[in-house]
Amino acid sequence: MTNTDKDQSVQITSSQSLKKSNKLQKNTADVRHWSEEGQNETDASFMRQAMLLAEKAQAIGEVPVGAIIVVDSMVIGQGYNQSIALHDPSAHAEMLALREAAKNLENYRVLDATLYVTLEPCPMCAGALVHGRIKRVVFGAYDQKTGAAGTTMNIVQHDSLNHKMEVTGGCLQDDCGAQISAFFKQRRKQKKG
Ligand SMILES: [Zn+2]
Repeated sequence: MTNTDKDQSVQITSSQSLKKSNKLQKNTADVRHWSEEGQNETDASFMRQAMLLAEKAQAIGEVPVGAIIVVDSMVIGQGYNQSIALHDPSAHAEMLALREAAKNLENYRVLDATLYVTLEPCPMCAGALVHGRIKRVVFGAYDQKTGAAGTTMNIVQHDSLNHKMEVTGGCLQDDCGAQISAFFKQRRKQKKG
């Protein structure tokens, strides 16, 4: 896995480089790192489901990111990146999961819900999660380029917004990061070939 690829649109942090990065620790002061919570098996299990959705994105040539929304241990929404397929710049995994969850609840607020996503949300998704009043977000890989749940900015816990989420970062981050890095590696190879 490589962390220095300039031409990929996300930049993944491995758990080892995370430990070395003081800057990141400072930026993520309100973000709990998953491994510090005693390897919560419930979180890991839902994250694995999100990873399976990410595989679906990969199968259709989209950046492999998957998301699920859970209320009372029940999955009420799921999504994977489909921006290219749907000709929709907003069709990120989290947005699609959020839309499905809200529809299922017949409510524009998705209350008491936890969103699991394999990559730290971007600013657009983080903003939508605030609008949806998601209670907790658990993400896999940290995104050094556009992560908006504490890494480059913190929209999900912003003082100016009227809703703040609990945030847990780095759940199965090496597996989630490897999934995304492998995709970009493969794509670069195809471009060269
Ligand atoms: Zn997004």
